[in-house]
Amino acid sequence: MIQEQIEQAIEVLSNCEYVVVLTGAGISTESGIPDFRSPVSGLWAKVSPDDFTIEKFMSDPHILYQLGVDIFRVITEARPNAAHEAIGNLESRGLVKSVITQNIDGLHQKAGSKNVYEIHGSVRRGICTGCHQEQPMEKLLNDVVKGIIPPLCPRCTAPLKPDVTLFGEGMPPAFQDALDEVRRADGMLAVGSSLVISPANMLPGYVDNLVIVNRESTPLDRKAKVVINGGILDVVPLLARIWLEKKA
Ligand code: NAD
Repeated sequence: MIQEQIEQAIEVLSNCEYVVVLTGAGISTESGIPDFRSPVSGLWAKVSPDDFTIEKFMSDPHILYQLGVDIFRVITEARPNAAHEAIGNLESRGLVKSVITQNIDGLHQKAGSKNVYEIHGSVRRGICTGCHQEQPMEKLLNDVVKGIIPPLCPRCTAPLKPDVTLFGEGMPPAFQDALDEVRRADGMLAVGSSLVISPANMLPGYVDNLVIVNRESTPLDRKAKVVINGGILDVVPLLARIWLEKKA
């Protein structure tokens, strides 16, 4: 059954001129990073989304660091899995042009993807809430270990924020770049996203040929040419292998 759906997905995507991949937290759960919405294992089963708003951070930055520092450490130490690697392979062989990711974990780059749009920022760095200078995440984590919470900017002493998009915060410039990219695209493979977070969930609307791979249904399933409800590791590496074999 899954094999048949994979064949259908490849049929759709291989007839496209310009295919982009859109990923969400579900592609990284097999790398040990919890997603938001999965029951029990998802982050929202343990912490509240209300503590991850920009208003909360600006009024009391301690909360984000107290709740988030372990999560940031897990993310910075995680390794890419076979699905990240398969997508990197598809890009290096020219079947996929780019990856637009809602993830902040940097695992696509670690797996070899070159053209990556991080539309919710990255845990690789922090940013000063005063002068906007970037700092490596290591500095932020080391300060937290020393009890300096929030970590402060060495240049202007304002609090440093992990450079990830909190709820209620404006989108980074990479989002506009991603919009330009989907306007060029005629095919999209959306992997491991509940597709409920706006404005990221607008992006598939720009593309005629949508394929969705996710364990559960999404609000955009009706727009998709093919929906594969399966585990990321069961689907994405196999899809990439068959697609690459067909091309060879
Ligand atoms: P989400 O948590 O809303 O949805 C993840 C989806 O992936 C769910 O529908 C879930 O059923 C599915 N899924 C999880 N593991 C799977 C697997 N092994 N196989 C198949 N499907 C699987 O995540 P989202 O749509 O990306 O949106 C939430 C936000 O989460 C994003 O803004 C992102 O910034 C943030 N986030 C990122 C990370 C990360 O960087 N790895 C982790 C947690 C949250």
